[in-house]
Amino acid sequence: MKAAFFKEHGGAEKILYDDYRDPVPEATEVVVRVRACALNHVDMLLLDGRFPPPEGLPHVNGCEVTGTVEATGAAATGLSRGQRVIIFPGLACGHCEYCLRGERTVCVRYGYLGAHKDGGYAELVKAPAANILPLPDAISFEAGAALPLAMLTSWHALVAQAEVRPGQTVLVQAAGSGVGSAAIQIARLCGARVMTTVGSDDKIEFARSLGAEHVVNYRRQDFVDEAKKWTAKRGVDVVVEHIGGDTFERSVSALTRLGKLLTIGSHDTHWGRVDLRHLYSKNLRIIGTNLGTILELRTILDHVVEGRLRPVIDRAFPLKETGAAVQYVLDRKNKGKVLLLP
Ligand SMILES: [Zn+2]
Repeated sequence: MKAAFFKEHGGAEKILYDDYRDPVPEATEVVVRVRACALNHVDMLLLDGRFPPPEGLPHVNGCEVTGTVEATGAAATGLSRGQRVIIFPGLACGHCEYCLRGERTVCVRYGYLGAHKDGGYAELVKAPAANILPLPDAISFEAGAALPLAMLTSWHALVAQAEVRPGQTVLVQAAGSGVGSAAIQIARLCGARVMTTVGSDDKIEFARSLGAEHVVNYRRQDFVDEAKKWTAKRGVDVVVEHIGGDTFERSVSALTRLGKLLTIGSHDTHWGRVDLRHLYSKNLRIIGTNLGTILELRTILDHVVEGRLRPVIDRAFPLKETGAAVQYVLDRKNKGKVLLLP
């Protein structure tokens, strides 16, 4: 098969498009013919070596995949060749302490498709049969590929972890990102009011179209001041944060008493400081969270079919132009998800 892969770490120029070993399914695995694969921030960390692929190089990125069933292992039942599917990207062992508690996202051997295994920047990809869900006919391959990581992570953070309630106020950092564009919609679906940040004015209308009531350009405005103004000095109930550093540190200051800071990534830096006085005196909670469950992904598919959630796609590139797609994301030109189409 053809794949876009890398043999050494670096920037977009390290992506090669060439022949690559065909995936061979184990008994409980399925090979999927990729129809669409979305890019993610984690792909950039794998590429530049900040998060080197655990199985070494060469490596194929790509966590968010839709396609059709191409081949099934002997013990992978219930799936037929050609069936439209979406892959749940979380890989868990199923028998460690945390898996047995039902908390598979903190499995001691946890991994992602496209990180711990070769992913979907390819014509074919393999995954455990247990990770395969039917893709409803009403959802295109392109729309489906925008869901499994960003939408799922935001859903799990806001619904399961923060338990956002109608009438609450939520600050979502970086509306233009996959996580941000998903989080705005999900917070609105929960009945919350939403403010968000953007890095350029051309993203303001986009953020409003997703349901944000107040949009702040963080290059010109102070988002903590704006959060205070927007809430009549009170502060917001929840912040969705995935940037790290100064954004993380200042997000704490935007919270009201009993507020929750959801940290679901560290796109700029893995480090962030906390003013501990705010943390204890206001009874704040900092909640780390990653991905979600396959059941939550199925719930998201239902909401998309019914039109309550909208996958946000910026543009698609042909698989052979993966290098250009990666550079486009590194340059932060995208509003929503960028896709590869084999
Ligand atoms: Zn486990």
